[in-house]
Amino acid sequence: MDGDRLRIPKVGWVRLHGSGQYPGCKAKQVRIRREGSDDHPKWYAHVFYEVPADQVGPPAPDGALGVDRNCGQATDSDGEVHPLPDTAKLDANIKRKQRKAAKARERSRAFGQPLSHRARRICGQLRKMQRKKKRRREDAAHRHSRRMADSAHTVVLEDLNTKDMTRSAKGTDGNPGRQVKQKAGLNRGILASNWGRLERHLDYKAGRVIKVNPAYTSQTCAVCGHVDKENRRTQAHFQCTACGHTANADHNAALNILERGMALLPTAHGAGASARREAIPLGTSTTREQGIPPPAGAPVPAGYTGI
Ligand SMILES: [Zn+2]
Repeated sequence: MDGDRLRIPKVGWVRLHGSGQYPGCKAKQVRIRREGSDDHPKWYAHVFYEVPADQVGPPAPDGALGVDRNCGQATDSDGEVHPLPDTAKLDANIKRKQRKAAKARERSRAFGQPLSHRARRICGQLRKMQRKKKRRREDAAHRHSRRMADSAHTVVLEDLNTKDMTRSAKGTDGNPGRQVKQKAGLNRGILASNWGRLERHLDYKAGRVIKVNPAYTSQTCAVCGHVDKENRRTQAHFQCTACGHTANADHNAALNILERGMALLPTAHGAGASARREAIPLGTSTTREQGIPPPAGAPVPAGYTGI
């Protein structure tokens, strides 16, 4: 390792992209990963640095952060929005390439031939695009989780079961479901949001991860606690029908999630803002502490998606 160059045995010196974030820090470990096919391999090097504690930003005085995960973005209780990468253009290109690949494959098959050179080339291009999309999503999950873990010791999330949430609305033959197409679109959005990955990253990056019951977090007023479906007339806007409090709907939900998480903490002196403001002393180990299971009872209503 020398500046932004890395020497790999049997390969030689290679340039590193995106390095130089931790000047003066010692590289501790390098992991080499290969993507692509045997004929056209793509190599990636993940370099791990040893960074002294004083060079990493200290966690914000707010010891805890609530995070509302949504379709396409996450909002935390400080009001910060963590958007997903915009892959609309890439998605459109992938779709076009998929159609092309299907046609090319069909043509080869019609003549009873093995895949033509052209078909194989198109399939290779398609796989390359899909790998790019995957890398973008992974990168976003890493950056968001890092940011959350840096700004708070404790991160509170909704205990979402993606598998249940993305269950098809198709129903059975005797009892067909409603709005099947819409639900399918929502499912795609939930799966694309990659929230499971964010959770796994937070599990090892944050000091403590608390999961809370997601029921009604989006319909509850963060100020007075009034629960009403009418509180949330639109996707983005929240207005309490009891006290008139108005807020961004996702931010309001994130505050509720934080509140629930704090209520579960055995050490919290109450669940209000004062408990939240309790700063963790500098130098506190950020190794994961024991998780706190969500409370029993309060079942999640059927069909609830958390969105
Ligand atoms: Zn209210």
